[in-house]
Amino acid sequence: MKAILFDIDGTLILSGGAGSRALSQAFEKLFCLDNALDGIKPDGKTDPAIIREMCRKTLGRDCRAEELESLNKQYLSFLRREVPESPGYRVMPGIPELLKHLELKEGVIMGLATGNLEEGARIKLGRAGLNRYFRFGGFGSDCEDRVELTRIAISRSQEFIGQELKKQDIYIVGDTPFDIQSSTLLGTTSVAVATGSYSIAQLKEWQPDYLFPNFSDPEPFLNALSLIAN
Ligand SMILES: [Mg+2]
Repeated sequence: MKAILFDIDGTLILSGGAGSRALSQAFEKLFCLDNALDGIKPDGKTDPAIIREMCRKTLGRDCRAEELESLNKQYLSFLRREVPESPGYRVMPGIPELLKHLELKEGVIMGLATGNLEEGARIKLGRAGLNRYFRFGGFGSDCEDRVELTRIAISRSQEFIGQELKKQDIYIVGDTPFDIQSSTLLGTTSVAVATGSYSIAQLKEWQPDYLFPNFSDPEPFLNALSLIAN
């Protein structure tokens, strides 16, 4: 058995800035603060980590628990409006075909390992009808730390199939050095794809096990999966 755990933003889809806009709007609504996300690079970070950074930058302190709860609530409600209307929303090249292939592959299960709050993840994937491929995952709502949420995604995939997986049979697919780093720390197989804001050359520096420009041709990735099986 193999588990393939996908990141969302820059890997499966791009929300066209819907996530950033929703976060900024949540800050504006709660604290009357404009442009709270300015100067913060959200790529590869978890939602709770981004929100913490925004709080420290704009308020000069961490958010209190009740503020955090309101921010998350507001963020999700703005996201529900922003995602369906986002003109820049798109599915990354080859993703629908890749997921269809993987779904039919015997002995392969798919899940998510994403910094998004689970509800946010479902909203973002919902527009493209991709939720049905992912019945479990590790999310930013599970843990602020990306490595830990990836660990949670792995244990959920093992619970899902009721057996332990070999580390090398767990594939962490993502578009940033953070995804590669989490995989390396956990001893799993890393698959980097340059469809987000990091180039092939930048991702290569982090020495992923596999590196693809995109998945417009699903074959190289499918081949990588069967090669590892031997
Ligand atoms: Mg990403």
